[in-house]
Amino acid sequence: MTTTLLHNARLIDGTGSDPITDAVIVIDDGKITYAGTSADAPETPSAVRVDVGGNTVTPGFFDCHVHLSLPGTKGSPVMAAMVPESYRFFELIGRLKTTVEAGVTTVRDLMGVDVGVRDAVKHGLVEGPRLLVADKMFSQTGGHADFHIPSGLDGTGLIGGVIVDSVDEARKEARALLREGVDVLKVASSGGVTSPSDDPDWLGARTEIVAALVEEADAYGGRKVAAHAIGYAGIRAAVQGGVQSVEHGYALDDELRTEMVQRGQFLVPTLIETLKPDTATPQAVAKSTKWHALAHESIQASVEAGIKVAVGTDAGLVPDHGDTLAELGCLVKFGGMTPMQAIVAGTKTSAELCDVDDTLGTVEAGKLADLVVVKGDPLTDIDSLADKDNILLVLKEGKAVGNRGGYTL
Ligand SMILES: [Zn+2]
Repeated sequence: MTTTLLHNARLIDGTGSDPITDAVIVIDDGKITYAGTSADAPETPSAVRVDVGGNTVTPGFFDCHVHLSLPGTKGSPVMAAMVPESYRFFELIGRLKTTVEAGVTTVRDLMGVDVGVRDAVKHGLVEGPRLLVADKMFSQTGGHADFHIPSGLDGTGLIGGVIVDSVDEARKEARALLREGVDVLKVASSGGVTSPSDDPDWLGARTEIVAALVEEADAYGGRKVAAHAIGYAGIRAAVQGGVQSVEHGYALDDELRTEMVQRGQFLVPTLIETLKPDTATPQAVAKSTKWHALAHESIQASVEAGIKVAVGTDAGLVPDHGDTLAELGCLVKFGGMTPMQAIVAGTKTSAELCDVDDTLGTVEAGKLADLVVVKGDPLTDIDSLADKDNILLVLKEGKAVGNRGGYTL
């Protein structure tokens, strides 16, 4: 059995409790067996001791909304049409590595990669964060997942869209995805910014389609549904259809906020994607200006209403892979969260959304040793998390997957 002991650490354990100075974390075979004060730490004479230099230890972070299949600012979604499909798998290698080295040890990919990518990481064929995948996104004809572009070309399959126009079609396509083994279903219940022929104000998948997907996902082992929903009509369909998470959620009003709290639904506000215009298409630039402003105006009321807020970014669409932790600064700046609340959003609350909070999301005995050593104190400078040079060490199940600090393990 390999035992590793991190000491001289400042521990932010993800539960929201006050930090522990002079903390010790003991890891046995990929699991945390002790996290607390050095005074109470168990005797572990054979442990490999790592002095983290008074820096902060946090849980491994989550990004509950990524698209690893997309290039971020390093290209355009159109590039997917310019290479053979096999080439796109190799493009994932760098994106996975960049993401995990930035301190994100679990991601939920909400369209574009399938269970094979998830399992390749799980089995160690390629290094990266643990994945939960949706593979496809549902919408109706002419909705957010319909990428027939004005030239007549159909990019729907290429981006990962699936078109369903009736409850029966939705059930059948959902069952095929659930058979494949996806972790979550993704539906667009509003139009979008990037999509060529609709608008975020427009209603996407109707409530009955959302509800059918929710029922199917639940029937296949209690899986959940995430809804892309930006405008009011789409958010209402998502909430009333019973999804687990509303992605974006910019046009929430107080009535729907209350309903989300009552139903225990999560909000994933993807704020860093609202810092820059969406340049995927000329139409997207114009649409994004309006909706990004609304995103900044509405998030604080959603936080204050008590909705469970998880961290997600849409990395790959507008933000770059690896930029996830800048979202925490946005939750403080626009959402009015304290730095501690933002860290809890990116760890414990996100683990709850991903249904993995029994093993991940906090630094506590019995959990998997997904840990990040962060330079300095993110509670005094939450934006420091966004600078990758401050992410000194990343452990995933006790194994170093990023080590800028040059620690000997
Ligand atoms: Zn997205």
